[in-house]
Amino acid sequence: MGEPLVIETLEELRDLDLFDRIVKIFDEAEKNGDLVFKEASDFERITDKKTKMEYEIKVVEALSKRPNNRASEPGDDVKVTQEKIADIQKKNPFLHPEPELTIIDSLFGNYRLILNKYPNTRYHFLLVTKEFEKQDTLLKPIELQLMHAILENLNRKIEEKNMTERYFSFFNSGPESGYSQFHKHIQFMMLPSNFHVYQDDVVRGVDYFIPKEIVENRRPLFHKKASFKHYILKLKDDPSDEEDEQDSLAILYMYLIKRALNIYKEHDMEDSMMSYNLLMMPDWIMIVPRRAAKYGEVWQNSLGFMGLFCVKNEELKNLVLELGFAKILEECGFPIEEDEEHIVYNEYGY
Ligand code: AMP
Repeated sequence: MGEPLVIETLEELRDLDLFDRIVKIFDEAEKNGDLVFKEASDFERITDKKTKMEYEIKVVEALSKRPNNRASEPGDDVKVTQEKIADIQKKNPFLHPEPELTIIDSLFGNYRLILNKYPNTRYHFLLVTKEFEKQDTLLKPIELQLMHAILENLNRKIEEKNMTERYFSFFNSGPESGYSQFHKHIQFMMLPSNFHVYQDDVVRGVDYFIPKEIVENRRPLFHKKASFKHYILKLKDDPSDEEDEQDSLAILYMYLIKRALNIYKEHDMEDSMMSYNLLMMPDWIMIVPRRAAKYGEVWQNSLGFMGLFCVKNEELKNLVLELGFAKILEECGFPIEEDEEHIVYNEYGY
């Protein structure tokens, strides 16, 4: 395990050989049985002709062992009480994470990086707050900046190694987002080798812009053939300094949150229950407003909206194939509309 690693600046984070550190700690933890992980032997990759999205489905046995420590159950119309939070704290795995799984002991004073104990794929890890914070609080500008800096660090290294995987990051927030732990955490996972994601096509050739509802070509981008509402924004690729980068990330995120709130308002849904998945890669950020954590027996968090379906067993795999990827995503999100590109939300509605 070695000395505790403390990272206090973006420069230190940029210079860190993070990927090799993750690989080393993961391999050691796997060898010592500290992880609940078995490489999925069988997976299917399907390109859907209608939605032009690539999907991969696989059985992840660890999902059956993953603990649930939620503040409420999907569909519940109840506010989270202090008693419930106290109860959650008793079995909160992120307050005192296992040293064997710790990648960075202290990041910017308030955070840690730890391996996911029940990973969907190899080298899946989490950024967690040191102190308890609720998963349904908004992301802070520094958290968005850390997400981005970590992604840039990892993907630069992966490219140098001529690997064909890439990391993306995601945040499941709100009772219908598909989260399982209520302590604030952001996740980082590798896409399968040479996996195509539609967001890359959507942002290709687009210059960075600050969105404005009332200007037609300043509204958020989306994949027109998708079955679910989602909003994608290009990230600034040449910020003048760290502050400029943080400001720009915060503006884009607040805009996406406002869009999601507008969808909730349009459907007469309670703001305080607002659920969404936020996904990021080095050059884009995306929000998917959520209305349900599951469709039938099929649970969904951010991963499905990246085209990745991980299920507990063969039975569920068959169910997903029977229901159809696009239908599941549509039912868990909000259905995209035919005239989606002409929808304008009141700029000051929220
Ligand atoms: P989510 O389901 O989106 O809330 O993500 C929570 C993640 O925490 C899941 O992917 C779990 O596998 C992971 N997890 C649960 N318990 C632990 C633990 N003791 N250490 C590290 N990760 C954990």
